[in-house]
Order: sequence, then C-alpha cells, then structure tokens
Amino acid sequence: MKQQKQQNPWHRTMLAASVGIALAGGSLLAQPATQAATQAAKQPGTHAAAASNSSLRVFFMDVEGGQSTLFVTPSGSSLLVDTGWADHNGRDADRIVAAAHKAGLKRIDAVLLTHFHADHAGGVPQLLDRIPVGEFLDHGPNRELTPEVSGYYSAYLKALAEHHVRRISLHPGEKLPVPGLDATAVTADWKVIDHPLPGGGEPNPFCSNLPAYPHDTTENSRSLGIVIQFGRTRIVDLGDLTSDKEVELMCPINRIGTAQILIVSHHGWYPSSSPALIDALHPRVAIMDNGALKGGSTPTLQRLKNDPGLENWWQLHYSMEGGAKWNAPDAFIANLDRATDPQAPDAGHGLTLTVQRNGSFRVTNERTGQTRSYAAR
Ligand SMILES: [Zn+2]
Repeated sequence: MKQQKQQNPWHRTMLAASVGIALAGGSLLAQPATQAATQAAKQPGTHAAAASNSSLRVFFMDVEGGQSTLFVTPSGSSLLVDTGWADHNGRDADRIVAAAHKAGLKRIDAVLLTHFHADHAGGVPQLLDRIPVGEFLDHGPNRELTPEVSGYYSAYLKALAEHHVRRISLHPGEKLPVPGLDATAVTADWKVIDHPLPGGGEPNPFCSNLPAYPHDTTENSRSLGIVIQFGRTRIVDLGDLTSDKEVELMCPINRIGTAQILIVSHHGWYPSSSPALIDALHPRVAIMDNGALKGGSTPTLQRLKNDPGLENWWQLHYSMEGGAKWNAPDAFIANLDRATDPQAPDAGHGLTLTVQRNGSFRVTNERTGQTRSYAAR
C-alpha cells in the first residue's frame, strides 16, 4: 500500500511546479520553496529577509552520513542541529553556510550539538571560522573518553574560547533558548524527560515483546534529543539515541505523544529506531540523514517501509546496503551518486522541509527540484 503511495507522489506537484504554483491536497500554497529561497538569497538583510516567510523552514544538509539540520523560524531565528564532520577542507561547514545564506541568514543564533562524535561535532571549528554563532547548546561534558572523541570535544571547547561563544548545557524538560522556536529537550546525558509533553502521557502499546537492547555506553546514548512544536506540527530529533534509551523515553508511558515528522535517529542505523519509538510516534513523514555507506540499515528501511501510518520517508542518500528492495523510490532520495557510479563525487544535494502553522508541510528534493506537499489534518 505504502509502496504504491511512494511510487506516484508527484501527480499534483510536478504540474504545479511548471507554472510556479504548488497545490497541496487541494489547497493553494503561496509559492514553491525554491522560489522563496531564490528571493531570500537576493535580499541583503538577515532576519528581515527570513522574516518575510510565515513558515518554519528546515534544511537537511548533506554531510555524508553525519548530521546537520538548520531550523529557521518565521521571525528569522535559527537553530542548527550538529555541524557534520571536520576535514575535507571545510566541506560540511561550507554546505551549512550555503544553506544559511539561502535562508537569508548572516549568523546562526544557536548551534545544538547532540553529542560529541566526529560526524556531529567535528565541524565546529570550521563552522565558527565561516559564520558567527550566538551560542552552543549541548548535553554537558563528553563522557566517551577515547582519544578520538576527547579530541573533538577539546577542539569544540577551544573553538568556543577562541570565538568567545557561550555554551549552555541542557537537561531534559528544559526549553531551548531560541526566540520564537518552541523546542524542548527530552533526552540528555543518559537522562530522559520525567514528565510527558502536552499530548503525551498515554501507555505505549508498542513496548511489549521488544528484544533486550544492548546497553550503549558511548556518546550516542547521551544524545541531546529535542521535540519541536510549530503550530500543529511536532518534529522529533533525537540525534543518535540508541534503542535502549528510546525504550526508557517511550515506555511504559509515551512521554512524547505522536509526531508528524521524525528525523530518523542515528542516520537510519539499526541500533536505533525501535518499534517503541517509531510506532508510538506514528509519524506521517520520516527524513533520514544517511550516507551511501553509513546508516540506512536494511532493518530500519524495512521498518519504515512496513509502517502503515507513514506516508513517505526521505533519504539524503541512496543506501548501498538497502539496495533496490528497501530504499525509498529515487524521487525521495537527494543523492543517488553511488547507486549508479561507485566512484562518483558526491553532489551534496539537500532536502528542505517547509512547515505551516496550520499543520500542512512540504518537502523539496534539491536534486530534482520537485516538491511533495502534505495537507493539514
Ligand atoms: Zn552520527
């Protein structure tokens, strides 16, 4: 059933794109995301340009299997979740700055580091060399005291000191200090929120018959996870939180409730995305920041594909592991390179999510320029 939906999603929007109007479930949207972005890029201001938009815009940058997700509010406030990798000549920082400029930003108000692994915190020094940041948010000290992770943590602290940027460590239950953005920390440093969010608090029927998930002792399970509420839409981003912590967060009481949009944890790698999380959140759309060879595990793709409530899932890359059987259809994948040519350089295409307060939203694939709209429910 869902496969059928995935294969024929464009009957409205392909026609609409050709005339510059996007139709969403019979309703008229003001303008395609690409047109709005082009207009924003032409404007010299920062917040003024971003403030002309009434939607929450979310840019999923391709950082090759790491995470970097930029949220921009209607008033122009901005939150970046994670900075991608170090190295590669500042590739990931360049991609983040390009997205920020596309959104009309000259600075980023807050950068949240979910945890201190290389694919999330590695890009901090390069980013701070390229764009001003108001403050950093994290889960507290690094707890994975290996030379590698300690090295990235030290580089983070050094960069903050050099650029005189403030750092705030958050606990579950605290709101993020980003003006105009309703975002709550729900996990941090092995702890989970102790009271349910509005709409949560019911027993979770998907907690039975779960396997005994291994106890993760790395920074993954320390992830600073957040829930964002924008109008009627709830977005969940738990970083690389592993299934053992998902169960603590979601069982026996579902502390989050349902969410319309899920940023798939851990790049779609199988040690995350338990049924206790995925089935209980009951998302309409999932977005996975996987790489061609990182994340995008077959069990996770399989779970998404078989989820009866999920309308679509999107991927930043074709997953080589998933193959033709388990990947989303090509139209829902931002980068296909390795699927057709293993030596192909990565084009760095992203995905853009645009959310309206009434509960409608749309996702644009930068590779194709096509937009899929989801009507409010
Ligand atoms: Zn990661």
